[in-house]
Amino acid sequence: MVGNCYFCEEKNRVSYFSYFCENCAMLRRLLLINSPQKCIDILKRTLTRDDKQIDFKINQEIKKIVLKDIEDISQNDNSYASKTRSKKL
Ligand SMILES: [Zn+2]
Repeated sequence: MVGNCYFCEEKNRVSYFSYFCENCAMLRRLLLINSPQKCIDILKRTLTRDDKQIDFKINQEIKKIVLKDIEDISQNDNSYASKTRSKKL
């Protein structure tokens, strides 16, 4: 018997010498890899929504990324076009 996780108090700890269950240990590692403030900001933005709102937010973020990619590509195309045009003039 290793006892309950000190954080979620639901699952068993990974080992007698560990304070956390597997999931909570992973959460702690993610907090240490990134900054706790960054994680709090992300979780506040994403988890304070119901499932439908989370799906909407994810779609919005994907759209932003795709639109930015398209913008980058079109900017590259414009610079290429202006170079080729200037050579022709
Ligand atoms: Zn836990």
